[in-house]
Amino acid sequence: MTNTASRLLILDDDPLIGETIQAMVQKGGYETRYTDDPAEFFSLLESWQPEFIAIDLIMPQMDGVEVITGLAARQASTKIIISSGADYRVLDAAKRSASEHGLTIIGILSKPYTRQTLLDMLDDNRMPAVSSPNHAKPEALPEPSREDIEQALVNDEFSIVMQPKIHCRDYTLAGFEALSRWNHPQYGFVRPDIFIALAEKYGLIDTLTEQVVSKALLWLKAMPESIDEPAGLEGLSTRLRSIGVSINISARSLQNIGLFDRIASSCLQHGIDPGRIILELTETSAMEDPLTSLDILTRLRVKGFKLSIDDFGTGYSSMKQLVRLPFSEIKIDRSFVMSAKTSQESRSITHAIIELGASLNLTTIAEGIEDAETLEFLREEGCDQAQGFHIAKPLPLAAVNDWILTHAWQCEARRLAELKDLDILDTPQEERFERHARLARRLFDVPFAVISLVAKNRQWFKSGQDLPMRETSRNVSFCTHTIAEDGFMQVPDTFESTQFRDYPMVTDAPFIRFYAGVPLRGPKGQIVGVFCLLDSKPRQLSDSQIERLEAIAELVARELAEGQRGFIDSLTGVLNSSGYDSTARQAVQLARRLNLPTLSLTISLDNLTRINEDFGFDQGNNALAATAKILQEVLRRSDVIGRYSSASFRALLIDNSENQVEEVIRRLRERIQQFNGRSDIYTLQCDIRPLNSGSAANSDRTAEVRHIDGRQAAVVNAS
Ligand code: C2E
Ligand code: CA
Ligand code: CA
Repeated sequence: MTNTASRLLILDDDPLIGETIQAMVQKGGYETRYTDDPAEFFSLLESWQPEFIAIDLIMPQMDGVEVITGLAARQASTKIIISSGADYRVLDAAKRSASEHGLTIIGILSKPYTRQTLLDMLDDNRMPAVSSPNHAKPEALPEPSREDIEQALVNDEFSIVMQPKIHCRDYTLAGFEALSRWNHPQYGFVRPDIFIALAEKYGLIDTLTEQVVSKALLWLKAMPESIDEPAGLEGLSTRLRSIGVSINISARSLQNIGLFDRIASSCLQHGIDPGRIILELTETSAMEDPLTSLDILTRLRVKGFKLSIDDFGTGYSSMKQLVRLPFSEIKIDRSFVMSAKTSQESRSITHAIIELGASLNLTTIAEGIEDAETLEFLREEGCDQAQGFHIAKPLPLAAVNDWILTHAWQCEARRLAELKDLDILDTPQEERFERHARLARRLFDVPFAVISLVAKNRQWFKSGQDLPMRETSRNVSFCTHTIAEDGFMQVPDTFESTQFRDYPMVTDAPFIRFYAGVPLRGPKGQIVGVFCLLDSKPRQLSDSQIERLEAIAELVARELAEGQRGFIDSLTGVLNSSGYDSTARQAVQLARRLNLPTLSLTISLDNLTRINEDFGFDQGNNALAATAKILQEVLRRSDVIGRYSSASFRALLIDNSENQVEEVIRRLRERIQQFNGRSDIYTLQCDIRPLNSGSAANSDRTAEVRHIDGRQAAVVNAS
């Protein structure tokens, strides 16, 4: 904290608010002035030179937007806080208009707010007392010249830092983005946007990019070996050997195919799969010349690189052209992510981009995540990956290993907590799991199909009765590596594998030669175990077999979730609302992966209150149970059914064409009518309506109401 007070100028038509703000911040070490007169405000702005200003948007003499225009005309560099009781859309629009005018908005205070919110906003944005080189105002320094940059390239003054990216669903490490840093002997730290622009201007950007790539590849190659895998984190080095690194590619470099040839041969030289390199291009750079881009980007994909559209949402490209380009990832611009918490509009845009990415089968990643709330929002929206200060700031290479280990321990703790929640270790054999194991043994013609739950020090087999052991220690478990791989893993012949050939399961009974496993996720998203096939003969699964194995594993995972206490509605035996939410979310994700359509139905028992009143609660309960039973009879076993509120159910239909959905609804009506024909106490009056397709897990209870509008399929009244 500085000892020289920062200045805050307040413009508000309500003196009481003005005084309150003054009182709030004075103790925090701020000098304040208050006025309700715009003319005085502008004059103080000149004479008093405040670091911060707080303005109300809605004032009788002048509206806040006009003040903003006035500030823009004066090219004010003050940090602005917008305060108002106005609707969020108005606040959003004002904020946008201000940033488009080049003004710095550090926050929006919607009334009422607390002293702490205001102080945090000020403190976080305050100028440091002693200006360190990296905080020095850029205009105070001479602009680095071409010679400066050339020298820096020769003297190896550019370094890289690595910012971690994680998977939203289980928070595990997904990879890193390499970012350049320049610590100039005289200028100190120069901001990347400044030196990158200069390197582009002087035609030196390709050399810089090559230095970044070569540093990143060297690091990527050496990093897994430089970390000793501790007991309890078995499989960590497996994961580290497959994570990717994102490299920023300047628009200027796109035409230079020679650069990419050199990057490709560096990969080859270091034994790094180009599929682990994600080239980040901004939307605008890719769209400058879409035709040439198509050509070049396709060649990059052919070389094996992944391609990400950086800063997505900030350009003005045509969707149609954009979706034709062979990208593998969309990176949502941080401006939307950073404001998601405060702006409904940013949340809508983020939601739309994630949907777009999912429907195009692209990885979606959000950057600029600065708090847990935003990360949770993205997770719920189904975003694949996340990056931001809340997860980690860009790290100097020397600090990365420590971060990786600390983070891996945190993830493992979360994983073990979810396994513990499932309360399934050391429980007896259960038919609901044996069923799936039998199916797999038959489908794949293997002697063993096993559910392995990977605990702290051991793996324990939930099914797999025929195996000579019930558990093994974790350090000789194949499944630990499947967990680390975060996806399907197979070992076609264990005798050929230096990693696995000495495992006791291989050297002793049952003499395993073949292993194939798919991770099992618990309802909260953590991988708790693996569904695996074992054989005493070497073999190899085809792609379609892998898909089948994954589908069975999905059912096993669902079984794990359903078995969890508190996930089942005891009255009807179907899932309860939280059980439904988490299972439906998983199912939607699976369906997206397999490219299958999903649709959710909401089924409400409209006359439940009447039944309760006329015939008593027991009959009301019977009516609910009868409705659930009809749903279970008509829907497929793979569909997800839940009681969503006291009188309504949700069902997620997977892989049904429109006609099939109509048929399902027709059959539900038919069954309800049959029931009503036979019932001599009460009848069931059910409303059956499709919800928005594909996002059952995201729709909350209010969405249920919102989505039932004229655009949805006609209401089917099955009473
Ligand atoms: P970018 O590619 O969008 O990189 C992400 C920037 O967001 C980084 O800024 C990173 O530090 C910052 N960031 C990450 N998480 C957060 C967060 O939670 N909050 C906030 N406020 N910021 C976050 P950085 O390192 O200053 O880089 C700025 C830009 O400079 C990059 O934006 C990229 O366009 C460019 N750049 C950096 N390194 C290179 C490079 O090696 N080559 C090229 N061509 N451009 C580079
Ligand atoms: Ca980037
Ligand atoms: Ca970016």
